[in-house]
Amino acid sequence: MAFDSLAERLQEAFKKLRGKGKLNESDIKEAMREVRLALLEADVNFKVVKTFVKNVSEKAMGSEVLESLTPGQQVVKIVNEELTALMGGSEAKLNFDSSITAFMLVGLQGAGKTTMAGKLALYLRKRNRKPLLVAADIYRPAAIKQLQIVGKQIDIPVFAMGDNVSPVDIAKASMEYARKEGCDVVIIDTAGRLHIDEALMEELKNIKSSVRPMETLLVVDSMTGQDAVNVAESFNNTLDITGVILTKLDGDTRGGAALSIREVTGKPIKFSGIGEKMNDLEVFHPERMASRILG
Ligand code: GDP
Repeated sequence: MAFDSLAERLQEAFKKLRGKGKLNESDIKEAMREVRLALLEADVNFKVVKTFVKNVSEKAMGSEVLESLTPGQQVVKIVNEELTALMGGSEAKLNFDSSITAFMLVGLQGAGKTTMAGKLALYLRKRNRKPLLVAADIYRPAAIKQLQIVGKQIDIPVFAMGDNVSPVDIAKASMEYARKEGCDVVIIDTAGRLHIDEALMEELKNIKSSVRPMETLLVVDSMTGQDAVNVAESFNNTLDITGVILTKLDGDTRGGAALSIREVTGKPIKFSGIGEKMNDLEVFHPERMASRILG
């Protein structure tokens, strides 16, 4: 499962602290050394680790903790709060327009964008919205078909114009189509590449400025750790994303992406993908994630 080895390492580090009636600075220093190593091993960005450990140490060294009756527990509580803060504090909600809302999904090929488009559509329909899926990836031969299959599976309409029309025109036309069909949320599945390239970014920027989506959501594969963080940074720099969706959290990801992305990009993680099925979507709850990591 995700975070298993990080959870194990942290729990090991805190077991020692919990067992002690009183703590001194060197006990805390030693525990912080272990926390630092555990986070680095989980592929958390080194700058993020540095700030995190510094914040926790400062709070843990305070007299409130050292003089408390349960100092070990106090330290764990601080780590829990700081981990929660690191992942954004509280749940980040989606923003909707008063008329038709556009959401644009962006990300590298294979990150899970098309699957996520379907999951989001299903999630929104359960909340009484009327979503429309839009096939704006005209480059990968099977992409349009794949979205159509997803749409059929969950009974959500899919707007496609083939692969001879520019993605900007497809996106624009889809808004018009949604209006006609009474759909209120348009989910645009854009093209991904194996690597970030300028042409891709330029196209995504054009789609964004032509439909003005309420959310530009970057879909990243949590299994790719620090790479996911780099991808997020560069998409955010060019596209000013509004949030991140972390996929494949059902795998044995070490946790680096989940713990670094918010801090590095300043953008919240809004959802996580926890499997290949259309129901395998969770709202991202930083506090629950922190508690899961701390066991
Ligand atoms: P795209 O190229 O970004 O559109 O990616 P796809 O949606 O085609 O997904 C790539 C692969 O990842 C597919 O085999 C999906 O079934 C799989 N996938 C997507 N999301 C998840 C997830 O949350 N968990 C798991 N285990 N697999 C996923």
